[in-house]
Amino acid sequence: MAHHQRINRINSPIGRVKCVVDSCTYWDNGNKCMAENIEIQPPQAMDTQETDCVTFLPRQFS
Ligand code: SF4
Repeated sequence: MAHHQRINRINSPIGRVKCVVDSCTYWDNGNKCMAENIEIQPPQAMDTQETDCVTFLPRQFS
């Protein structure tokens, strides 16, 4: 799943989402996600390993 469009980083965190992926461009201290919106894939997932935040963007590519 590498089909992301560029999402803006904004000043308010997404509520009710805890994300610990500190290597993501959108991550911030306190396990917050600062992306304007996020997309989780895929349909019909069977376990946690299969579910995936496709908005994830590694910091080194930001
Ligand atoms: S975009 Fe996804 S991986 Fe990145 S901080 Fe937000 S929820 Fe976490």
